[in-house]
Amino acid sequence: MQAVEVEEYRVPRELAERVIGAAHIEGWGHSVDIKVRKPGYTVVRGRYDSWLASKAAEAGAEVREHHRVVDVKRLEPMHYRVKAKHKGELRELDCRAVVGADGFPSLVASKLGFPKPSTKDFAASIQYHIQLTEEQVDSEYGDRVHFYFGVVKWGYAWAFPKRTQVAAGILSVASEERLQSLKAKLDGVLGLEKLRNVVRVEKHLIPHRLRPRLQLDCALLVGDTAGAANPVHWGGIWHARKTAEVAARNVARALEQENPAASAYEHEMRREVYAPYFRYDLVMQKMMYGMGLMRRALALAAEGNMDVIEAIDILLTSLEPHSKAFWKLLKAAPRLLLKA
Ligand SMILES: Cc1cc2nc3c(=O)[nH]c(=O)nc-3n(C[C@H](O)[C@H](O)[C@H](O)COP(=O)(O)OP(=O)(O)OC[C@H]3O[C@@H](n4cnc5c(N)ncnc54)[C@H](O)[C@@H]3O)c2cc1C
Repeated sequence: MQAVEVEEYRVPRELAERVIGAAHIEGWGHSVDIKVRKPGYTVVRGRYDSWLASKAAEAGAEVREHHRVVDVKRLEPMHYRVKAKHKGELRELDCRAVVGADGFPSLVASKLGFPKPSTKDFAASIQYHIQLTEEQVDSEYGDRVHFYFGVVKWGYAWAFPKRTQVAAGILSVASEERLQSLKAKLDGVLGLEKLRNVVRVEKHLIPHRLRPRLQLDCALLVGDTAGAANPVHWGGIWHARKTAEVAARNVARALEQENPAASAYEHEMRREVYAPYFRYDLVMQKMMYGMGLMRRALALAAEGNMDVIEAIDILLTSLEPHSKAFWKLLKAAPRLLLKA
């Protein structure tokens, strides 16, 4: 979890499995350790999501757990019927607005007729949970998240230390790599010793491009459903919160005025999320992965180039708009382009 999430949403320290103070980045024979300006956390997602649900309940939301949405229909403007299964029983709920927050790919988005993203717009990932002792995690990883580049073309592998486990995974843009080859590459990075201690395997898709439509009538999409994970490192926890915040204020406005057009969700998303972050992230994605500049950036960072190091810090922490990271990389561009 990025520093911006910890800071903006005052995530309690007790939820941190490990406080992360640095990133170890390696690839193509180079390696660099970058201390981030403010710490992030690694967390257990289930515990973190329960904390979020308890905050929503404190703020007045009625949280209904263990309901699997199986259908959503728009009956007329501002009138939706949601069907959900709860312990085998089908339940119906009529409502005036729907927020699609069911991750990616989203049943809510497809049932409500939002256009489907292409395989260029999301990454495929596989992640192992590796059981170690706390001492092993301390000595091998400490407070460092590890990134491994040069393993796949449009993506990377990682190892994020928790208290007694390491979450190690790999991702690549889905149109570029098949899951089976990702798995083989991840196994190669980790080695046999670690593979023996794998206790859980997860496979997921992570989107990295905002959908062309984020609102239809009074249905709004947030987080991964909206396509709002970061196109450079595919982190999306903070973006999910941020987009939900923008959606909440716009749904409230639409409900108050009984008019979906009172919501400026798409406009505010462009202004608050796309313009300062994704617009630049998408260009950096092309530069770093498409043009192969990641290798040169890593070589420059290893030599101590402060523009590249500061750009990486901004991307890792999101404590400043990503436009700043872009301009820092551009400042280093002559050296990036010339570096062998
Ligand atoms: C392997 C991996 C590692 C990652 N690591 C990081 C990281 O370190 N940092 C970071 O910032 N991001 C990370 N991400 C990205 C991040 O997990 C997502 O961007 C983020 O979780 C998006 O949040 P969300 O709430 O939009 O969707 P999700 O977290 O996917 O939540 C969607 C929720 O909807 C529920 N749901 C789905 N369908 C239904 C249904 N039909 N009915 C009812 N409920 C439903 C799901 O059970 C889930 O609880 C990682 C992603 C992956 C795949």
